[in-house]
Amino acid sequence: MAVFQQANWRGPVPNCNAGGMVRPFQGLVLHIEVGTESGTDSWFHDPSSQVSAHFGNPKSGGLDQWVDTNDVAWAQVAGNSSWISLENEGNPGDSLTASQLSNAATLLAWLNLTEKISMQLAETPSDTGLGYHAMGGAAWGGHTSCPGQPIIDQRAAIVAAAQNLVSDPIVSAVSPATGAAGDAVTITGSHFTFATSVGFGNTSATQMSVDNDSQITATVPTGSGTVDVVVTTLVGSSATSAADQFTYTG
Ligand SMILES: [Zn+2]
Repeated sequence: MAVFQQANWRGPVPNCNAGGMVRPFQGLVLHIEVGTESGTDSWFHDPSSQVSAHFGNPKSGGLDQWVDTNDVAWAQVAGNSSWISLENEGNPGDSLTASQLSNAATLLAWLNLTEKISMQLAETPSDTGLGYHAMGGAAWGGHTSCPGQPIIDQRAAIVAAAQNLVSDPIVSAVSPATGAAGDAVTITGSHFTFATSVGFGNTSATQMSVDNDSQITATVPTGSGTVDVVVTTLVGSSATSAADQFTYTG
């Protein structure tokens, strides 16, 4: 399974091929739903539609995923087996909302980290990076108005936001900075989106949740003395500093 943990799983859907994706993927293709996220979800679950996409991007809220990235979604015909597809809620002529732009950047960054998809603009089916449905012309179904010029023009901002996410994490504060095993602490800093673990010295936090790119809540593991709190992400681990220290009491 290649399912993005930060997406809401909406599959399985009938309109896809099990396996068959060609790696390395060439890139991520932006689409427009010409409708709502809920309507698109219903359509993709209808066998008669013969269409699907890997991911969906509602105007508010988090990403949805309908098709495993190991499987071929039916989104852009000749480009189906080498491109990951992202449907965006709305109509041609719409711009992405701030939250949709952020979701698209997070997905592009994750695909860069896990599948080496380039964080650059693709303008033709032979390029790699962030493309759009219309660039494929007739071979991709002739969808000349998908996703529409405003979204095509927002790709540079998506790439820039994705590049920012793919940076080493930095811990700037731990609060409270003293306590005991079992306590919850709030870790603030930056580039936490793809966090996988939090270390208190050499011991991993017993629980952690990524609240957003700049905040993690973690549960203190057993330990003693003063330790560095280190956040590890898909990109790397935070460098230690005086700002990341936690002191055990009692
Ligand atoms: Zn499309």
